[in-house]
Amino acid sequence: MRLDVRPYRRPFRQPLRTAHGPWEVREGLILRFEDESGQVCFGEIAPLPWFGTETLEQARAFCDRVPRHFSPEQINAIPDSLPACQFGFGAVRDRVAFSSACQLKQPSPQPPDPLNMCALLPTGAAVIEGWQGLWQAGHRTFKWKIGVAPVEPELAIFQQLVAAAPSDLRLRLDANGGLTAEGAAAWLAECDRAPLTIEFLEQPLPPDRILDWLPQVQGQFRTAIALDESVATFRQLQQVYERVGNRVVYVVKPAIAGCSQRLADFCLQHRLDVVFSSALETPIGRNQAMQLAQTLWTQGMAKRALGFGIGHWFADDWQTLSATALWEQL
Ligand SMILES: [Mg+2]
Repeated sequence: MRLDVRPYRRPFRQPLRTAHGPWEVREGLILRFEDESGQVCFGEIAPLPWFGTETLEQARAFCDRVPRHFSPEQINAIPDSLPACQFGFGAVRDRVAFSSACQLKQPSPQPPDPLNMCALLPTGAAVIEGWQGLWQAGHRTFKWKIGVAPVEPELAIFQQLVAAAPSDLRLRLDANGGLTAEGAAAWLAECDRAPLTIEFLEQPLPPDRILDWLPQVQGQFRTAIALDESVATFRQLQQVYERVGNRVVYVVKPAIAGCSQRLADFCLQHRLDVVFSSALETPIGRNQAMQLAQTLWTQGMAKRALGFGIGHWFADDWQTLSATALWEQL
């Protein structure tokens, strides 16, 4: 197998607010593999170090150590300390397991069906009308980020939103760990009263507090709780599962969760309730992650809308490019 590596830089339309300050440019690596028969396949390394992955520099150093001609078996030897590399190099294996992460010959990737795709709503009061265009575009599941303002005024906006929205609109609330225990209880009570489906409240408390808090609210609310930041790496997913089992929904970002086959096996074996989600990767990594989700759905995993509706966050046209065309732009 021949390997070539090219770095990419994608500026966000507007810097994303993160707990670590503004994030202006998504950077990563695209891998191009070619076997002896000339078959080409692409992979992507999209690290998120503040979620516990390797840094871009560590990923690049790893790629520099891989010989330009390598044997696919070597992929099994990538250590767990490099989960984004495990995913990227795993594209070679996944094309067999999930039958085509690599679909190269297609002129352009099919845009994902909005019905299966959760759309991100604007934060704050802009949400009250902000869902309409996305609804008309075919989305039925929406995510709204909360915990960005005090609880009371945010709950007031939420009440207006659910009163105005169609009853078959499904809503996910994501607090990114920004609520207190009291705030989270107030939100769950309000969600239980909503006239439409609140799929879950995601990561109400930060990872270091939420596992002790979960038993306290057990059985008190109908609305489900999802974990995202708590289960960023595969190891964290295993550890959290041992403590809370199937009492929560798991939000998993395949691009940073290491080997996809191991992730697939774990999800199926324990019958996890999973939402697959983006790590803000390019369409190359996204297609590989979505292929994993498709495969698990066909094997009986409950189908929840995917968290990959992120193309509009970037100013480029990469969402419309085939893997080959994207590679040629780098
Ligand atoms: Mg989240």
